[in-house]
Amino acid sequence: MPTRRSKYTPGGYKLRVRTSKAGKGLFTEEDIPKGVCIVEYIGKPISEEKALRDEGKYYFELSPQRTIDGNIKENIARYINHSCAGNCEATGPRGRIFIFSRKRIKAGEELTYDYGKDYFDRHIKPKGCRCEKCAGTAANKNGRSARAKRA
Ligand SMILES: [Zn+2]
Repeated sequence: MPTRRSKYTPGGYKLRVRTSKAGKGLFTEEDIPKGVCIVEYIGKPISEEKALRDEGKYYFELSPQRTIDGNIKENIARYINHSCAGNCEATGPRGRIFIFSRKRIKAGEELTYDYGKDYFDRHIKPKGCRCEKCAGTAANKNGRSARAKRA
């Protein structure tokens, strides 16, 4: 029987944590085609109450009832920085989160995705967004439109 890989199987690309302009970032060491699964965002489930109370930096809301805390060392996806025009997107079925490429990404590039409006307003907007799209043009600061798809 041939085994068929799920579209949600991370591709095993060589990724590396390096210093980026926003602290640490996750970079690819090889070319990644458009539309493939790169890595899963993993974490430990936390209670609804804790999620509301703590607003942790690595919390990822999978649904209104389910949030995971991605601040564990196995989760290299936690190093992926926010960008309003990211080259990746976070998406996934049944309460899991996978990072997919939205375009072709070349070796050496940093992986980024849009963290979504809630996170942006809470954690990024107060300090000002440092993504490539916003950094150059102050006029863009409030003009973001793309949103992360969170299944
Ligand atoms: Zn931005």
